[in-house]
Amino acid sequence: MLCSYPFKQITIRDWDGDRIKWFHPCCNMSRPDWEDPMDWQNTDFTPEEAFNSKQFKELREALSNNKKHPFCKTCWDMEDRGIESFRIHNDDTKPRGKLDVVDFIASNKCNLACRMCDPQTSHRLMLDFEFFSKEHLLHEVEEATCGKFRGRMTIPKTINTKQYQWLLNNPVKELRFSGGEPFFDNQIIKLLDKYIAEGWAKDTILAYHTNGTMFNPLLIEKLNKFKKQHPKLSIDAVEECYEYIRYPQSFDELDRSVRLFLKASTNLGRVNIAVVVSALNILELHDHWQWCCTLPKKVYISYCEVYPDQRGISPIYLSRQLLEHIPWLDSKKFTQIRNSYFRRNVEDKEKMLREITLFDYSRNQQYKNYLHPHLISWLDS
Ligand code: SF4
Repeated sequence: MLCSYPFKQITIRDWDGDRIKWFHPCCNMSRPDWEDPMDWQNTDFTPEEAFNSKQFKELREALSNNKKHPFCKTCWDMEDRGIESFRIHNDDTKPRGKLDVVDFIASNKCNLACRMCDPQTSHRLMLDFEFFSKEHLLHEVEEATCGKFRGRMTIPKTINTKQYQWLLNNPVKELRFSGGEPFFDNQIIKLLDKYIAEGWAKDTILAYHTNGTMFNPLLIEKLNKFKKQHPKLSIDAVEECYEYIRYPQSFDELDRSVRLFLKASTNLGRVNIAVVVSALNILELHDHWQWCCTLPKKVYISYCEVYPDQRGISPIYLSRQLLEHIPWLDSKKFTQIRNSYFRRNVEDKEKMLREITLFDYSRNQQYKNYLHPHLISWLDS
């Protein structure tokens, strides 16, 4: 089969108020230009009913016959760019044609407002949204981010939905979740507590994305009750560059939280540090790599391209000379990404400055205080 996700997993992540907008087999299928390739007209289903829907059956049929179904355009496009796509992943839970894995987002509640994010994924970015709205810059910011930053978004009320209630009462082999920041969201904590109270936790693997800022002894104790955990910590840079991207988090506090977690956890599987590669951090990734090497447990660094691929902070717009300064890292995926930016390079400083300065304006920041000196000199030239 070309990809195992549709044979074991359902992703429930995009909410419109208290209604789920669509069900997909993975969290990468939806992109601003094709939000719902599976075309869900009705979503009044439990996760199990959706997993047994005609859309999922059609996709499973195609993938088991090695046919590249158009639902998975995200992956086929990446492969066309010469980059290993999302369908290549670790199969901790083997695909059995049964719903064993649920990948869930309870809401967009988040303590951070990262540069590459949007109000759909972090409610904190509504502060930027309101600012842009007041300054009549919404159209401009939507254009600068190629449609990523758009639309007013309130925090969805998912607690009474059919999907959340199903999750509370149907234990699965692997519970995946992200946010927002999942540990900033009581609904995720409530779900973990239910698994612990019912005795399900010892048989369930947790795989989650977190920004890594919220670890404390109580949370770590809960997580230790599960069979295993595979955390992905989203940390894309160090020091000032980190603080610029992962606004308004202090790097020192993040560092303390991550070290406490890695030292006190007793059931860690593979720990990933997830890096979104953008023009903001690409020149500094060697420092980031070195910081990862100082952590008290071995971590794997995984890289992905900032998206949409054509937005202002994409490295494709860097000058050729700056591309030459991208560090060499011992990572196949990073090398593919780096080579792809070289191949597709179309220098456009104005486009990059537009996205950078719009958010600088909204946050009263100045890129000159945070970014790599070579990048600053080019942007200023
Ligand atoms: S092929 Fe890609 S888009 Fe399709 S389910 Fe697998 S990871 Fe998701």
